[in-house]
Formats: sequence, structure tokens, C-alpha cells
Amino acid sequence: MIFLGPPGVGKGTQAQRLAQRLGLPHVSTGDMLRASVSSGSEIGRRAGAVMESGALVGDDLIVGIVAERLRLKDAEAGVVFDGFPRTILQAEALDGLLAAQDGEIGAILHITLDEEEIVERLSGRRVCAHCGAIYHMRHHPPAEVGVCDWCGGALLQRDDDQPEVIRKRLAVYQTETAPLIAYYRERPVYHLLSGKGDAETVFSQIVKVIGMSR
Ligand SMILES: [Zn+2]
Repeated sequence: MIFLGPPGVGKGTQAQRLAQRLGLPHVSTGDMLRASVSSGSEIGRRAGAVMESGALVGDDLIVGIVAERLRLKDAEAGVVFDGFPRTILQAEALDGLLAAQDGEIGAILHITLDEEEIVERLSGRRVCAHCGAIYHMRHHPPAEVGVCDWCGGALLQRDDDQPEVIRKRLAVYQTETAPLIAYYRERPVYHLLSGKGDAETVFSQIVKVIGMSR
């Protein structure tokens, strides 16, 4: 299972829910990178060195880590990817890996949302500086403005969630991922879904289209 879509549409949340529902591992490239680095494998050591230098981890390293992950026993029945593939090269490599293991993509779930709505969602986000709890000024406000309900810590806006930074992240996404959508769009397992509404609403669409595509 693959998720596509811009930052702020809730792909991570949906990927987690879907993995739970299907009883498959939730495979996040971010988590895998960290796990691979701490495992001390050859690929992990290379990725660690790249990340320490502050550079982006390249396609070959990401693909190497995914290949390692797909060889684990719990991946035999399938996995739900989160954050992969992100480029055409990664998508081509995934096709190769799957072909080698007699696997196939079960569903490509492309979640979209208007840019303005993404900016509103992400820029309203506040994070507790103390315990990390996440709030939203409109959709999930704390009882007292600027104060965490759980621990009383101060709620802050991450630099990443400033409107100008969000727009830049969206522009990067457009450049990086638009070709990926063209790569997948014609496949029968590709589904375009609206990210509008709450997580439950989006998830019910996913359940529905996966039921139809299997
Ligand atoms: Zn807190």
C-alpha cells in the first residue's frame, strides 16, 4: 500500500490506521532510517554519515533500506508505506523489488487538499514544548490558550509550520512528487481521495476503495 499527497493531508495518520486494520507493518521511511542507523548495518552506517553531514539521504540509500525491510519475515503479507516512494527513481526501484519478490502494489492512495486548507491546518498547529502533545487552534484547542492540557507546558508553533515555510514545503512537494503522480495515475490500483473532513471520513473512503480494488 502506498500513500501519495502533500504534507498536511494526514497521510501518516491514515497509513497507521490502515496498517492496523489490515494487520500489516506500518513502514515509515523516517522510522526505518533511524532504525537502520542504530542497527549499525552497512546501509545504516552510510545513511547515518549522510544525515550527520546535514545532506538529504539519496534515493539509493532509501531504496537499500526499503529492500532490507521488505526481506523481513513480517513483510511477507505486505506493508503499508508511509513517506515512500517519494521520487520516480524510488518508484521504479520499488517496482523492481516487488517484481523480484512476486509482489505487487495493492493500492496507491493519493490524498489531496487545497493549498489554502493545508496552510490553515498546518499553521494552526501548536506543539507542547514540554511533553510534545499536539493541538490545533481551531480544530483541537487547549482549554487555556497557549497552555498544554496535560502538563501545563507552553504551546509553540514549530518553524516548519509557519505559513511561509509551509508554502515552500508545498512547492518542493510539487516539484518532487508531481512526476510521481503521473507515473502511477494510469494504474488500476490508483485512487484519488479528498483529504477534507476528519481522519475518520478520509479513512472510510480508503476502506471503500480498497474493498473495490482487491
Ligand atoms: Zn504538555
